[in-house]
Amino acid sequence: MFNDYRFTASERFMRYVQIDTQSDPLSEQHPSTKKQKDLSELLVKELQEIGIHDAEMDEFGYVYATIPSNTNKQVPVICFCAHVDTAPDISGAGVKPVLHTNYKGEEIVLPDDNTQVLKASDHPYLQRLIGNDIITASGTTLLGSDDKAGVAEIMDAANFLAQNPHIKHGTIKILFTPDEEVGKGTEKVDLEKLNADFGYTLDGGEAGSLEDETFSADAVKVIIHGVITHPGYAKGKLRNSLKIASEIVAALPKHKLSPETTEGKEGFIHPVRIDGIAEKCTIEFIIRDFVTAGLKEKEDLFRDTVENVVKEYAGVTYEFQVTEQYRNMKEILDKHPHVVQYAKDAIERAGLKVKTESIRGGTDGSRLSFMGLPCPNLFAGEQAIHSKLEYISVQDMNKAVETIVHLACIWEERS
Ligand SMILES: [Zn+2]
Repeated sequence: MFNDYRFTASERFMRYVQIDTQSDPLSEQHPSTKKQKDLSELLVKELQEIGIHDAEMDEFGYVYATIPSNTNKQVPVICFCAHVDTAPDISGAGVKPVLHTNYKGEEIVLPDDNTQVLKASDHPYLQRLIGNDIITASGTTLLGSDDKAGVAEIMDAANFLAQNPHIKHGTIKILFTPDEEVGKGTEKVDLEKLNADFGYTLDGGEAGSLEDETFSADAVKVIIHGVITHPGYAKGKLRNSLKIASEIVAALPKHKLSPETTEGKEGFIHPVRIDGIAEKCTIEFIIRDFVTAGLKEKEDLFRDTVENVVKEYAGVTYEFQVTEQYRNMKEILDKHPHVVQYAKDAIERAGLKVKTESIRGGTDGSRLSFMGLPCPNLFAGEQAIHSKLEYISVQDMNKAVETIVHLACIWEERS
């Protein structure tokens, strides 16, 4: 199917990463940084050049586009989604992508900072990439494969389908979002306008991987109201909320239930911020579990801990506020098993082994799933993300393009 096709994903990728699209967690604007629109505008232009005439960017920087159906069958509308922004952790300005052809397993010293060395002993996945062409940054910035790899792969798949009109598919939607890295990627998305039944984000790692499970997440805010007096005349009266807050944090389990002591499917309770004065202190926590019922258990346990500390101090009161953050997308995806099954079949058709993974975090896909667009995450090839040693294989990118196309075909065949 792809024999005479000249893949364009890596060329597109090398162009897109040179456009700075770093998002800003402190901004109240949408998008959080204007520069994200520089890439989105270019994507609209390139989509139109491909022949996708309804491609447009809205005021918030979201790109929407439609590849029209070319079959008589009634096929559910599927959407491929990626984010244009890069992480705030490391600079995304002045990215100089470097292509290392025919990687042979050697150490790769990045040209602009020779202390940045990419080696297989630190990054075992590199061993699987021998013979591949690898793209890195130059040593002073991140690369931006998270998630410009996904963007470039969706663009190339669109280009492939435009050049191969004999390949049958239903209506396919394309969605590029801003601000995923600052947790606001779905905040201004218009799902009515998108009008898709099912989605796939392309924002994963190694070739063949598929993520259909994320954490379920709540935030808990504990507010301690102490009893305040003049410190010179405080004997027997003062109850210092800062000390009580410290006691609560110290009472958390030390050998379990924390990010630093858990892995795999284990959840945790994690303090992220303390803010206060002697009179009143607020502690913010995040609570994570793969099972939503497990969140409730952790919250109950934690509430007991707070209660046990506070009850020793007469006159002190506390508030315990739970806010839902996001939920494990598997709760939704299990109701539509074919969405994940077709993705597995598409990965196999691309000649890869499927590797199903759980994300110890959230994705835009988990939010979209609960907003009504069931949306697992497909591999995009990105590796060592949010670091100066970020890298990606050109061949992995092309496999992602093939997977997108196979997936579109499978939806048509089975409708
Ligand atoms: Zn990402």
